[in-house]
Amino acid sequence: MLCPYCNNPETKVTDKRDSHGIVRRRRECLKCHKRFTTYERFELDLRVIKKDGRREKFSREKLMRGIERAFEKRPISSEKIDKLIDDIESRIYRKVKGKEIKSSNIGKIVMDKLKRVDKVAYIRFASVYRQFKDVDEFKEELKKLK
Ligand SMILES: [Zn+2]
Repeated sequence: MLCPYCNNPETKVTDKRDSHGIVRRRRECLKCHKRFTTYERFELDLRVIKKDGRREKFSREKLMRGIERAFEKRPISSEKIDKLIDDIESRIYRKVKGKEIKSSNIGKIVMDKLKRVDKVAYIRFASVYRQFKDVDEFKEELKKLK
């Protein structure tokens, strides 16, 4: 493992977390002493069935972008967001039967999680995901949260 800052090959692991098949290692470079995180995870050949019936390869990056957008300017650390995405991803893996999952199921898993973590992020994600037709529908959803 090369340090991404100085390319030094010697690093030490300062923290290791294992959650449902995803191992995160916090590392410190022994030369420049900067810290970074590495991930080791299963990569399942998972396909997402979209609303129009098309299939696409499941992408953690895409999931991450949606979630980061929902948390924009919210008081949450990037480490917590990482952890959240790990949780969501492992839930998806546990939920999937066979090799395919509907995008609506992924949306539900994400919303279910966000609802408990941050209401603002939840509403943001839900409004993109569900594409609220009008203000009333949006208000309905807010009401349900109370
Ligand atoms: Zn270094």
